[in-house]
Amino acid sequence: MSVEPDDQLNELLQFLYACPVGLIELAADGEIRLINPLAMQLLLPIAQNGIVVNLFRVLETYAPELRNIVAAFSGMWGIVCEGKRIFVHPGGKYGSADPLVLACTLVRIDCQRFMAALTDVSKQVMQEQRLRQAETWFATLLDSVNDYAVISLDRNGFIDGVSAAAARQTGLSRDAMMNLSLDALDLQPRSTASSAARQIAIAQRDGWHLDEGWRTRPDGERYWCQRLVAARSEDECSNPRVITGYTVILRDVTQRASDIQRLKEMLTTDHLTGASNRAHFFEAAEHARLACNAQGQPLAVVAVDIDRFKRINDTYGHAAGDAALRAVSAACRALLRPDDLFARLGGEEFVVLLPSMDLDSAVGLAERLRVAVKAITVQVGDVYFGLTASFGCAAMTDHVTAITELLTAADALLYTAKRNGRNRVEPSLPSVAVLHHAAE
Ligand code: GH3
Ligand code: MG
Ligand code: MG
Repeated sequence: MSVEPDDQLNELLQFLYACPVGLIELAADGEIRLINPLAMQLLLPIAQNGIVVNLFRVLETYAPELRNIVAAFSGMWGIVCEGKRIFVHPGGKYGSADPLVLACTLVRIDCQRFMAALTDVSKQVMQEQRLRQAETWFATLLDSVNDYAVISLDRNGFIDGVSAAAARQTGLSRDAMMNLSLDALDLQPRSTASSAARQIAIAQRDGWHLDEGWRTRPDGERYWCQRLVAARSEDECSNPRVITGYTVILRDVTQRASDIQRLKEMLTTDHLTGASNRAHFFEAAEHARLACNAQGQPLAVVAVDIDRFKRINDTYGHAAGDAALRAVSAACRALLRPDDLFARLGGEEFVVLLPSMDLDSAVGLAERLRVAVKAITVQVGDVYFGLTASFGCAAMTDHVTAITELLTAADALLYTAKRNGRNRVEPSLPSVAVLHHAAE
């Protein structure tokens, strides 16, 4: 019996409907021609305004390189990329938030058509993260078995046994700890560590969970604590596993945390001015870009360049120039919000990263920075001098979507400010500028 074309189409549709993988047929420019329900389900929540028409555009924020990968593929058919991971949301440190990661395989079918297979590999990525955590944990356990404490929990998560070291580490007596939940041992309500309930839930599901973060003893002292919660069961082979309780291992690794902190500072900070360094700026800016994009928030930058800085060096000496750089950094940082980032990109050039700030607010802030810099008096020995700086502000728009483009836009305006006489902000908000100039 021959198969009718209609039957073939029906069979194809049924297959697409039931297929456990997201399937998309697309043109070389990313335009979607056919999409199965699972692919739609994966793409809809991450598409801007819920529009799923072009695959490259939907994934622009998370994998802008996809377009180029396809364009660079020269074969007439074949695999363009296999299992390419697209990090929609990278997940929090120490499992505080689950990641969302898609894997994308692209195949060229003929000169006009491509087929994309999309799967959600978040769970696998989470497992990989957890395995890496476990490796580090066991490595450090072997490295330096100094002080570790053991606590036993009953199946409801309440303490039913405590080692002597646990009392030392938590600062509570053994009796005081009995029948408490693990959270009651931590006296700081908001800490970097995860809650006991969440940790126990994961241990129940996966057998164990490892977490680290600051915890606080009753006397207020903070310590960096690694906490492993492992589920116990009577018969390891029974299915489903019946959990009878939990074993908790606590390690105080404060020293290691402060070493890491110091190393992190050394790697991310410019030692002369205390501002963030160039590499850290670009990393943090990219994080902020993704976060602001995901939350529909604006993102702005202000480029800062000290005016006639060469003249300061030539007139007062290099040490005076260095003092001026430090003073400008301190004056600007004092005016920023905790999540803003002030970085030295090189020489006497700085940049301010302003998450969730639109262009008008960034210009307003730049005006305040300009006034603060102009108010600086640098003292070197018995010499005093003042200085000014010029500012260029830019915010993300439909046309400016990458951090490098944002900086280029701010830089171009900074040089307009230089050309227009220095000690200026561009673009200038006429009302704001007039007010400030009048007040000086
Ligand atoms: P403009 O107003 O156009 O910005 O002029 P400018 O003199 O500030 O700009 P220019 O780029 O010509 O000079 C920058 C100078 O900054 C030249 C360089 O010697 C000096 N410089 C760069 N890094 C440092 C540093 O770490 N310490 C000191 N003291 N000077 C530096
Ligand atoms: Mg300069
Ligand atoms: Mg310069």
